[in-house]
Amino acid sequence: MNDCIFCKIISKQVPADIIYEDDYVLSFLDIKGLNPGHSLVIPKKHHENIYGFDTETAHQVFTIVPRIARAIKQAVQADGINIGMNNELAAGQAVFHAHIHVIPRYANDGYQLWEGKPVSKEDSQIIAANIKKAL
Ligand code: 5GP
Ligand code: ZN
Repeated sequence: MNDCIFCKIISKQVPADIIYEDDYVLSFLDIKGLNPGHSLVIPKKHHENIYGFDTETAHQVFTIVPRIARAIKQAVQADGINIGMNNELAAGQAVFHAHIHVIPRYANDGYQLWEGKPVSKEDSQIIAANIKKAL
C-alpha cells in the first residue's frame, strides 16, 4: 500500500490535476487519458478493486460519478461519456488502487466499443441463475 501511486496522490506526495475532493473521495485527471478530461474517481481508503467495497465506500464513490460526468461533458463539450472500472489484471487493471474511469467521448474519436458475442438462451438462463445464487 505504501508504494501505491494513488495513495501518494491522495497524500499529495505525488502531484495530480485534482478536480474533486472530499473526506472520502478524490477525482483527478488521468495522466494518459483517452481524451482530454478523462478522469479517475477513487476512494481515499485503499481498496485494491471493487470486491472489497463496503456499502459506505460504494455510496461515497459512486454517488459523485454522475456529477463528475456532467461536469466533464460540459467542460470539454463531449458527445458522450463512458464510465468504466477495470478489476484485476485480466480486466486490464494496471493500478491496484480501485478507480472508476470517467471518459469523455466524441462521435468520431476513433475508439472502438466492445463487441459482444451471442450466448444461447439456455446458457444465459444457467448463468443468470448462478449469479442470482451468488448474490
Ligand atoms: P487501469 O488500467 O488500472 O484501470 O488504469 C489506470 C489508469 O491510471 C491509466 O489510465 C493511467 O493512465 C492512469 N495513471 C497511472 N499512473 C498515474 C499517475 O501517476 N497519475 C495519474 N494522474 N494517472 C495515472
Ligand atoms: Zn492506494
